[in-house]
Amino acid sequence: MKGLVVLGSTGSVGTSTLDVVRRNPDRFRVVALTARSSVDALIAQCREFQPRLAVVADPAALPALRAGLEAVGQGTQAMAGPEALEEAAADHEADFVMAAIVGAAGLLPTFAAARAGKRVLLANKEAVVMSGPMLVETAAAHGAELLPIDSEHNAVFQCLPAPGVGRLAGVERITLTASGGPFLDAPAAALETVTPAEACAHPNWDMGRKISVDSATLMNKGLEVIEACCLFGIPPEQVDVVVHPQSIVHSLVHYRDGSVLAQLGNPDMRTPIAHALGWPDRIDAGVGPLDLVRLGRLDFRPPDTERFRCLALANAAAQQGGAAPVWLNAANEVAVASFLDGKVSFPSIASIIDAVLAKCASSPPGSLPEVLEEDQQARRHAAEKIARFTL
Ligand code: NAD
Ligand code: MG
Repeated sequence: MKGLVVLGSTGSVGTSTLDVVRRNPDRFRVVALTARSSVDALIAQCREFQPRLAVVADPAALPALRAGLEAVGQGTQAMAGPEALEEAAADHEADFVMAAIVGAAGLLPTFAAARAGKRVLLANKEAVVMSGPMLVETAAAHGAELLPIDSEHNAVFQCLPAPGVGRLAGVERITLTASGGPFLDAPAAALETVTPAEACAHPNWDMGRKISVDSATLMNKGLEVIEACCLFGIPPEQVDVVVHPQSIVHSLVHYRDGSVLAQLGNPDMRTPIAHALGWPDRIDAGVGPLDLVRLGRLDFRPPDTERFRCLALANAAAQQGGAAPVWLNAANEVAVASFLDGKVSFPSIASIIDAVLAKCASSPPGSLPEVLEEDQQARRHAAEKIARFTL
């Protein structure tokens, strides 16, 4: 039995994780669950999975959580606030921690899990983009394992040489696949008026709102290029992106001898989640079999970085290095939140990030407090720039 903490348990990755746990009751015991403020969903999860601890990031939600747990006779301890999230991530009963909080808010809890030597299941790509090799070093220093949950990185992980052989022995290139999002074939002019609901209607994946917008702008793929460089220790020149609208081939690794290994499967996050939970074993995920004959064809094409400028901005930030990935991520989080609030247009997301990145001249942050300082500085710039783009 492995003790499991799910950070961000009420979100899309969080609920998929609990579904895999539900299918493997003899393997995992849920120790702690956390959410920002969705008290009702969190209480329902506590009733089903009986964790010792439940945490809400927003202290204002704590009284409702306590009252709700008491009303249903649930003995789970309730806590709130950022330190409580870190405590949950480092819980002594936990072996595995699913890092599935969205955005920079997941950075400190993810580090807490790494410092506590857990197996960290890394969905929170923003934390990886912000902290670069620091997270990998912290994990190594404390005997923690980092296993990628992002479907592309999980695919690459599965296609790399076995650990011990030398992670990158003979690897020439990594190709990340991108669905292209809901606006793959939309003309540039049509993008001016797309709504948040349209941007969040992803053709293949059912995800949280922020990552859905990132998929629509292709920033998601840009963040994933940086994520791949950090996790696999490979330079950005050796990572490329190909659009694959069916989302069946999840990524590919090219070897020196001409071999190309790919991982395929139906687009369902329960596959990479189950892979990382069970690794090196294979466990049930509840995902249906892949039917290649019914699919009939798999298509590939180059990404259009003129209509989808966010991918080009992310590539530039990856090349620039230093604090640029932190600034890219912060500007994107602020711009996407404004788009979701109806304050700026869809194409303005790229324009805001571009304007913020032009102000970034910092060297790489050397510590977590420095990462957080760069993040705050970039957010202040982004808030200023947004005024110029407000509808
Ligand atoms: P989501 O919005 O559905 O869920 C986010 C979770 O984090 C929720 O439980 C929410 O309560 C919690 N949360 C939000 N803000 C918080 C805060 N400030 N403090 C503490 N908790 C907070 O998001 P998601 O789609 O599940 O994505 C989670 C992460 O996984 C993201 O980093 C995303 O990029 C990554 N990811 C998601 C998918 C997917 O299919 N959804 C795929 C690959 C990677
Ligand atoms: Mg992905």
